[in-house]
Amino acid sequence: MKELKGISANTGLAKGIAAVYTEEVEENIPHYMIEEEKIEKEINRLKEAYGKTKEAIEQMLKASEKIFGKTGEDIFSAHGTILEDEALFEEIVSLIKKRLINAEHAVNDVFDSYQEKFKQRDFHFSEMTHDIVDVRNRLLSSFDGISGQFECPEGERQPVIVVSRALSPSMVLNIAKSEVLAFVTEEGGLTSHATILAQNYGVPIIFGIEATENIECGDKVIVDASMGKVFVNPGKKTEKYYDKKIEEAEKRKQFCMVKEETPTQTKKGVRLTLKANISLQAEIKLLEGLNYDGVGLLRSEFLFANRNKVPSEEEWFKVYKNIAEAAKEKSVDIRFLDISGDKMPAYLNLLSGENSDLGIRGARAIDIFYDIYLSQTKAMLRASAYGNVRLLYPMISDISDIESFRAVVNKAKSVLTEEGKKYKKDIKEGIMIETPAAAVMAGTLLKYVDFANIGSNDLLEYTLAASRNSQIIEKRYHILHPSLIRLMEIVIEETRKHKKEVCLCGEIASFEEFYPLFLSIGISSFSVEASKLSDIKCNLMHLEKPDKSYLDKFYKNLKKVEIEEFFKR
Ligand code: PEP
Ligand code: MG
Repeated sequence: MKELKGISANTGLAKGIAAVYTEEVEENIPHYMIEEEKIEKEINRLKEAYGKTKEAIEQMLKASEKIFGKTGEDIFSAHGTILEDEALFEEIVSLIKKRLINAEHAVNDVFDSYQEKFKQRDFHFSEMTHDIVDVRNRLLSSFDGISGQFECPEGERQPVIVVSRALSPSMVLNIAKSEVLAFVTEEGGLTSHATILAQNYGVPIIFGIEATENIECGDKVIVDASMGKVFVNPGKKTEKYYDKKIEEAEKRKQFCMVKEETPTQTKKGVRLTLKANISLQAEIKLLEGLNYDGVGLLRSEFLFANRNKVPSEEEWFKVYKNIAEAAKEKSVDIRFLDISGDKMPAYLNLLSGENSDLGIRGARAIDIFYDIYLSQTKAMLRASAYGNVRLLYPMISDISDIESFRAVVNKAKSVLTEEGKKYKKDIKEGIMIETPAAAVMAGTLLKYVDFANIGSNDLLEYTLAASRNSQIIEKRYHILHPSLIRLMEIVIEETRKHKKEVCLCGEIASFEEFYPLFLSIGISSFSVEASKLSDIKCNLMHLEKPDKSYLDKFYKNLKKVEIEEFFKR
């Protein structure tokens, strides 16, 4: 069995047989030199391919209007516009003439450079690179008549788990809804046009997985999109576990669709708070139309992570403002840059190894990267004029950490006042409780802030001295270690005493099996990955609040605290 981890673009569970789908790929594009007298012929070949592509796009436009309505129409009209770009065509022609290369080679090179240009631009345009690739593929396939297809007969015979390098609008259009159980791809984007079309099918979608390397036609595959996981040729135990889950999920589906509008509550109507964690701007789209209670954790580290250039105040601001506006009046808790082993944006230029999880973290990074923190803080404050933004301080261990963040906030406020820019004067402040120090000192720390988030990922790492990212010690990073539960109990007790809000926002909050335990220690507010929110809400709607003996049972079971045993997985 192989277990692969990716990014979920549509939630859900699926089990089925894999069928690999291939589109035109770079290795198959013919590259050869032509003689000068063949230039004209080559340009005619190009024109002919353009003509065929135009027809194909027109046909797809009609078909997509029928299946996907206005969304489909917009997407394929945009493809038509890309194809009709005269400058693009002229550039291909001039490359054929200048370098004496065949038309397909020139098409590929010119589209590549266009794609690069779009990648560098802002978020909306960078997402369009997938459409450029789709038009390029369509154009290339017009030369030899071969377009995307399944590599194996499985794909034609039954509904399958579609595996491919990337998802393109044409590909989604080529595969009927009734033929697909899930999409698993290497490349993708949360709001790429292909994803938007595929979401219409209502099936799980996972990208960011080395899919074609690890999955072959005919493999048995289980997709758990709410966990971002794909199991290839699963073992008996995993299969049994998921068979039950899929059956239960089917039963719940009907009920949950009806209840989409209702706020999150248990079966007996106990109101719970369910918020979303967001790491990428596009994720806010996943929340459209859902009844959720806010953004409990907006991670800042992944927003411009791959860039070498430090993001400007304006860039931070645009992202924060978009999210704050999209969340309407709901609270959006923006976390200050929290650098660590697993979250190290390239623009900080820290050599790997230079920053360990025990080194430059949390408030300790402020002195080193003061200007970055200042511009990020100004951006958060400015965004607070457009929505219910709250400030979230990471990796707090003592009061001086809070003071370090607050000093930057005060400085940012005074600069903004001088600059005449708007911001919310009484903006709320919260702390991440993710060190044992913070948990045991919660009573003291809470006096200084308005709310707290329990970051169980780090809290567990620092409590057990076991890295959250090492596969070797995965078993020691025991997600439900009783020490974590004890620490959470302390925090809950203190927040109650101080009448402060507390929310659990680590990965542990996504495990539906643990909810009875969370409720029994008094947690009633959770923040989970945006893509998992509807599934978790659906599960909570079926949950009975456990009686007191539940927690006793948990502690009594300490000796066999293996999750599987406790929850009889
Ligand atoms: C956590 O530590 O639990 C948390 C939510 O923060 P992150 O995973 O971003 O470190
Ligand atoms: Mg953390």
